[in-house]
Amino acid sequence: MARVSSLNSVAVTRDLFFALLLARSPATFFCPAFGAATRDLFFALLLARPPATFFTLLLARSPASFFCPAKAVSLSPALMLDMQEGIIHHNLRATGMTTAASPLRDPFGRPIEYLRVSVTDRCDFRCVYCMAENMSFLPKAELLTLEELDTVCKRFMAVGTRKIRLTGGEPLVRRNIMQLISSLGEDVARGALDEVTITTNGSQLYKMADDLYRAGVRRINVSIDTLDADKFRDITRWGKLDQVLDGIEAARSAGLAIKLNAVALRGFNDDELPEMIRWCGEMGTDMTIIEVMPMGDIGSETRLDQYLPVSLVRANLAKQFTLTDLDYRSGGPARYVQVEETGRKLGFITPLTHNFCESCNRVRLTCTGMLYMCLGQDDNADLSHALRRRGVEGLDAAIVEAIGRKPEGHDFIIDRRNTAPAVSRHMSVTG
Ligand code: SAM
Ligand code: SF4
Repeated sequence: MARVSSLNSVAVTRDLFFALLLARSPATFFCPAFGAATRDLFFALLLARPPATFFTLLLARSPASFFCPAKAVSLSPALMLDMQEGIIHHNLRATGMTTAASPLRDPFGRPIEYLRVSVTDRCDFRCVYCMAENMSFLPKAELLTLEELDTVCKRFMAVGTRKIRLTGGEPLVRRNIMQLISSLGEDVARGALDEVTITTNGSQLYKMADDLYRAGVRRINVSIDTLDADKFRDITRWGKLDQVLDGIEAARSAGLAIKLNAVALRGFNDDELPEMIRWCGEMGTDMTIIEVMPMGDIGSETRLDQYLPVSLVRANLAKQFTLTDLDYRSGGPARYVQVEETGRKLGFITPLTHNFCESCNRVRLTCTGMLYMCLGQDDNADLSHALRRRGVEGLDAAIVEAIGRKPEGHDFIIDRRNTAPAVSRHMSVTG
């Protein structure tokens, strides 16, 4: 809000100046001191800002607003972003690719500080709630190269992104992915980014954990929905539990902090979740339980059969564990409790039973360069086109414009009347 009001005061000052110049307001006639103060403020503004910002501000206002005080003080979201763009462009030029002073805000005032990048939609598993067995994937020719992905990430850092999560599909099966991870790790080392994290199914960790740590990764999320090897193969279709458990061990030895993700699945793992919570307690890792989301066609499976409200999960867990609500927020959609018996945090992500959009701080990039401003909506921006046709300046403009269109939220529903996916793309496309 402080930023909005300071932008407001910039706009009001400029409008007052032009009102004085063009129309001579009664206040100026009757109070010369007021006119002088306005002029001084204007020149302070002019000197403190580079010409580009000044002209952005100038052009952003219609002539009508010079003469309409009400218009002068009410900033539309689009105008607010225009102004941010001017200031950000100044920051980018002046600082030569260090971070902007503050993150871009969307039309609802939410700071956008977190970018999730699906580096590939391909995967070595076929989890039944995520994909159909015979998936068709995005054409490889349309993928952004690793260099292009790195450029997009860096432009996001320049407009205030502080955290990047690589996801997928399975991010660790993308060829040469360590190249991108190492580059982002260097961004962390030089302070342009707070952290680079990864969400993985764990299948490649046994051979990549040390490299991840060396590249600057410190925390990873590993997704496991069961600790039973047969059930694991059933749910992932192609996965081997032992390989993933070896990977978790390798990650812990390498020094990576792990959080476990499990999707709550009716009749599949509801009975097993307490055991998984205890296992996390023994390993000293936190855990998050996720509600299944209606994203993408999953062939013969139906999400109505899979859907288990997390509110129900929590009620059942409360019979076995002492769950204490925590104020802790990881900046994401999870609400956390402390499991007193294990001393670890347990998160609940409830897109269906509790809409978490009010605190949303993220946008999502696909491996083909489409930016989705909301997981549950179809609106997107083609950053690949912007970068390839209009270069980095075009990319910057497209990022700012896209965040100016971020919707207030999604409205996922799974019930008997709404069994079709809410969005046609799979979770693996946006991660
Ligand atoms: N392959 C990696 C993995 O499984 O961790 C990263 C990508 S995966 C799409 C990221 C997370 O989304 C995983 O925790 C997975 O269980 C979850 N997920 C996938 N499809 C989902 C769906 N339809 N609803 C809820 N969570 C889903
Ligand atoms: Fe692959 Fe992750 Fe989807 Fe499972 S949830 S199929 S591991 S992308």
